[in-house]
Amino acid sequence: MCRSGFFLPILIPITHEVGERASRGSRAPTVAVVSQPQPVPIILNSLRDSPGFVHCPHCLELVTSNVTYVAGRTAADLTILLCFRLFCGFCLIPLCMRGLQDAHHSCPQCGKKLYIYER
Ligand SMILES: [Zn+2]
Repeated sequence: MCRSGFFLPILIPITHEVGERASRGSRAPTVAVVSQPQPVPIILNSLRDSPGFVHCPHCLELVTSNVTYVAGRTAADLTILLCFRLFCGFCLIPLCMRGLQDAHHSCPQCGKKLYIYER
């Protein structure tokens, strides 16, 4: 107990020596075992515009999906809308913008389509 009347915790390191060396009294080197958590695959419907770690339903492997960007309906609709407002040629800009393109995910192992994320 200290002067103010509170108990201060005293931390005493506790070491356990296990095995044959403990009985002899020699000190074994400390081995720190660090394990990292295994990555958890996400479901196919939650894939967005970036590659994701998924479980392929075709080849049953855990893979990181390959992504191909293809102009989709949103880019086509915006192109048609801009065609009436801008000079010829500028209306094609939405077809080149990645933010308006659909993301097609495929398996790098078997090459089959996994999911299409549409904008
Ligand atoms: Zn696959």
